[in-house]
Amino acid sequence: MSFQRALFEGLAPDGGLYMPNSLPTLERGEIDALEGLSYPEVAFRILSKYLGDELTEEVLGEICSSAYDFPVPMEALDEETSLLYLDRGPTASFKDFAARFMSRTMSAMKKYDELTTVLVATSGDTGSAVGEAFRGVDGFRVVILYPAREVSEIQRDQLERIGENVRTLRIDGQFDDCQKLVKEAFLDRGLASLKLTSSNSINVGRILPQIVYYFYAWANVCTAEEPLAFSVPSGNFGNSLGCELARRMGLPVRKLVLAVNENDEFPEFLSSGEYVPLSPSRQCISNAMNVGNPSNLARYFDLYGGHLLPNGTVKRAPDLSAMRKHLWSVSISDEETRRTIDQTYTEHNTILDPHGAVGVTAVRRFREEGFEGKAVVLVTAHPGKFPETVSTILGENVEAPPFLAHIVERSPSVERLSCDYEQFRTYLLDQP
Ligand SMILES: *Cc1c(COP(=O)(O)O)cnc(C)c1O
Repeated sequence: MSFQRALFEGLAPDGGLYMPNSLPTLERGEIDALEGLSYPEVAFRILSKYLGDELTEEVLGEICSSAYDFPVPMEALDEETSLLYLDRGPTASFKDFAARFMSRTMSAMKKYDELTTVLVATSGDTGSAVGEAFRGVDGFRVVILYPAREVSEIQRDQLERIGENVRTLRIDGQFDDCQKLVKEAFLDRGLASLKLTSSNSINVGRILPQIVYYFYAWANVCTAEEPLAFSVPSGNFGNSLGCELARRMGLPVRKLVLAVNENDEFPEFLSSGEYVPLSPSRQCISNAMNVGNPSNLARYFDLYGGHLLPNGTVKRAPDLSAMRKHLWSVSISDEETRRTIDQTYTEHNTILDPHGAVGVTAVRRFREEGFEGKAVVLVTAHPGKFPETVSTILGENVEAPPFLAHIVERSPSVERLSCDYEQFRTYLLDQP
């Protein structure tokens, strides 16, 4: 099937996750030629391998340059370790990379005139990234559902001050309740006229743009011939999957380090071979990674010859020795995360957010296991998004992220709903 259909459908009719039929590859010469290119140019070269027959060069080029109009800096932490900052987009988390690509691609690929309604249940970063990305985009309306008591103050401001074609619902319940409402709406045939679509972390349209920055980092770090290790702070494993695909496309990746917080089912699985999904998930200060049974793990299983069901049951075991060859994973406690934030500030004058700090700690642990060589850590959010946590650790205030200044100028627009499906349904049908 086309990428277009997979993008709008999200989940396959049988509940499975879409994957590319085959992965395009880049010759070593093509990879070397990325050196010195801007981020939008690298994005164009990688994404055209997948989308070349569905979008013209002109349209794809325009999508890449308008989506990625913000800096993507890299900075050396020490001689062997670099930080890749993915927190400079409009909502200050790496979710902007996928959300901005998806809004533009959906807009370019939409085949009918009716309004499309994008439903997003969010525990924080995804909702604001998707909302900002679709704000003002013709032909789309976004409805965001977030749990009243589970987001930080800054995240609430971000979610409630988007406006225009974006509606925010503060749900009197938990993240799970928001997800349930969205799932029920998708199954409701009476809502067909709303042309519902979703942009949650299992949409293949979110995975493709997350391949790009691994190539970009390589082109910026590796003037030498040596392969790189990447450390990715992980929750649902969608971000890291981009690295796995990049390696299979030809990028010289020495090891993919999957850095998780106390939700440790994956490192446990890699060492024991037994997969035991965690439920409920453990609450850690890197709150965007508080995920039990990561939804993209099924894609990893598939790539390594296994089969994982959505409920976490292993139907067929993957090739564990191949997995261990390419992947390494470690669970980092909140205590270690706090220590890293403190130390990195004292020793390098760099302020990490709790997610990036999990990634930095994981690389240190990997080196303690004997790894030598260059590594890149993905910084997935701006520390100013977590002022309470980070200021407490450092004993001084952290700078607010740049987006805050302009969102507080907008007036809040939010409606409060209970977890009752009928009420939500009526709300959707009443929208003009
Ligand atoms: C979503 C998120 C993560 C986890 O990414 P996955 O793709 O779910 O593994 C890590 N850090 C931040 C800041 C996030 O918002």
